[in-house]
Amino acid sequence: MLIALSVALAVAATDQPLDRCLASIRATRQARRITAATWDAHTRNLVVDQRVLESLTGQPEFKLPIWDYVAVMADQERVNDGQQRLTALRQTFEKIEARFGVDRHVVAAVWGIESNFGRGQGSFAIIPSLATLACHGRRQAYFRGEFLAALRILQAGDFPAARFLGSWAGAFGQTQFMPGTFEWIAVDFDGDGRRDLIDNTGDALASAANYLKKAGWQSGVPWGLEVRLPAGLALPARGRRTLASLGTWQTRGLTRVDGTPLVQRDTPNALMAGLHLPAGRSGPAFLVTRNYEAIFRYNAAESYALAIAHLSDRLRGSGSFATPWPTDDPGLSRAERRELQRILIARGHSIGQADAMLTPATRVAIRAEQERLGHEVTGRPGQRLLTALRAP
Ligand code: CA
Repeated sequence: MLIALSVALAVAATDQPLDRCLASIRATRQARRITAATWDAHTRNLVVDQRVLESLTGQPEFKLPIWDYVAVMADQERVNDGQQRLTALRQTFEKIEARFGVDRHVVAAVWGIESNFGRGQGSFAIIPSLATLACHGRRQAYFRGEFLAALRILQAGDFPAARFLGSWAGAFGQTQFMPGTFEWIAVDFDGDGRRDLIDNTGDALASAANYLKKAGWQSGVPWGLEVRLPAGLALPARGRRTLASLGTWQTRGLTRVDGTPLVQRDTPNALMAGLHLPAGRSGPAFLVTRNYEAIFRYNAAESYALAIAHLSDRLRGSGSFATPWPTDDPGLSRAERRELQRILIARGHSIGQADAMLTPATRVAIRAEQERLGHEVTGRPGQRLLTALRAP
């Protein structure tokens, strides 16, 4: 109890007024290669961004089941969008693939999921957001580093300060890089001397490919395969991190989900892979290679990695997973979410626009309708609710 109290006091003591906090960061300016001119130009009149504080201290993010996340992230609309862009930017994708050895469909999937192909890069001003996070909350040391990196980026002039917008947590550009990642990994693909991940798509896509390459991407290897498990297979204790060769998995009785052998021309006997069961034994099963780990390192969330992997397959022309998710109430695409929202608006709920975003107001309206219909009240949009609301 006493220990808990002292920890709480320590946390409170580090939440200083912004001026004093910035002054202590300013003392490290020179060591971090930031000129006085840069500091003065970008930190004058900084104030705490209350929306960032609300995001930081607000309720934990509504956790969607993985099948909802995949349904919305790899929906038909995003597949169509991505295929159009792969065609329109064919030469760019070819050059990037040749230079970094990373499958263009995976690069396009990262682009589509991180920023909806550049359309949704975030509207928070990065410098005030990172100043707020550098002086409030649990990860101040990390965000101090990111704040200083953001100032160095403006100092280097890769893009105008007025364009330096992104997520409340400081990720920006078409590939949603953090400033520290940008400094280490971003690429000037078109050779104009600037690494412009915000307005230059070639720079952004090459930077995503460079990230995956540095995360261990192996050229010519798939991220994984959907597989069928034999009855009674003993599951490895460390999940997908217990690696064995495809040949070994094959002798244990695993096949591709269509029943054909694991080992084929593009998937040699010696290829190492781990067994990934994102929804447990009764959902889709995958053998994943180190390329899946590279995707996972882009944003360490299982649902994210699988959505990127799946979208990349769909961009290449493959269908959805063959094995259904273990639910009787599958998730909605963005088109279906908008339809659900239009019905909610027509029923008198004030939820703003039908934009497919799962805002708090949309969830309140969903809960009210679930209650009225006698459904389980979850605030989650699924096929069951949409079907019931479509009925006249
Ligand atoms: Ca450039």
